[in-house]
Amino acid sequence: MNVIHRESLAPGVTRLSTDASLPRPHLAICGGIHGNEPCGVAALRWLDGRLADAPTWVRAGTVLLANGNLRAIAQGRRHSEGGVDLNRIWDFRYQTRLVRDAWAYEHARALELAPVFEDVDAVLDLHSSTSASPPFAICNAAPGSAALAKHMSVPFVVEQWISLENRVLTGHLAQRSIPAVVVECGAHQAPSSLQVAQQVSQRFLAHWGLLQEPDETPASDTTRFVRIAATLTKPSERFRFSTPIEGFQKLSRGTIIGRDDFTELKLVHDCYAVLPNDQVAPGDDVLYLAVPSSTST
Ligand SMILES: [Zn+2]
Repeated sequence: MNVIHRESLAPGVTRLSTDASLPRPHLAICGGIHGNEPCGVAALRWLDGRLADAPTWVRAGTVLLANGNLRAIAQGRRHSEGGVDLNRIWDFRYQTRLVRDAWAYEHARALELAPVFEDVDAVLDLHSSTSASPPFAICNAAPGSAALAKHMSVPFVVEQWISLENRVLTGHLAQRSIPAVVVECGAHQAPSSLQVAQQVSQRFLAHWGLLQEPDETPASDTTRFVRIAATLTKPSERFRFSTPIEGFQKLSRGTIIGRDDFTELKLVHDCYAVLPNDQVAPGDDVLYLAVPSSTST
């Protein structure tokens, strides 16, 4: 392979291949599905540069680099102004429940992106979080996804996240039996988040033999598998955490997580805090509680 074939599949989506016949595997990496999460977008730019260099490829294959929410990325927001969360509409119910004139940018963008992922062999979806957190992966229900997540060599893998189901991209892909893994790389602006995004992107492609493993020795045997046992929504505008909570902080039974003028949230089991964010709107998810998964031992 001397020349890498490159083409644009849709706005913000580039396909690179070692051969014009587009050999398998077809692997997609997505960044910026939330526009205020810069590490994924930056990792895609980095990969684009590396994959343009033919000798970087260890074996033949095809890689799709997909920038998710283009308008939100330009605005530096989770979703576009007046729009909706692009990672909560992949059940496509809006197609029958919402008249076309009422669609936001994201509704049209999800339909534009869907064909991109239709025939791929696996997907990596890069994210970052509001709160500080060690990197963690989330696998979907498709065969091969848990092994792929473990190969990411991050400290935690979430293997069940029932509340989000098929509203997220990876859930939509699970229904098509396409293994897909989200990696939450760390806090939005932390420099380490970009390093993690680059490392896991390389590990993802190395899992399929397309690239070399990154220099760091994978330590996947230390990965702990957890499942989301509870989803807490923000009860009111005035609700706040009692003390600042970091991602994957261990919380003990009896801890009062937070309160507003009328309620107090107290834990009755030990658990891990996942994606804590008390700045969300009332009714939105303020915290997920994870417990060790039965398959983790
Ligand atoms: Zn995100």
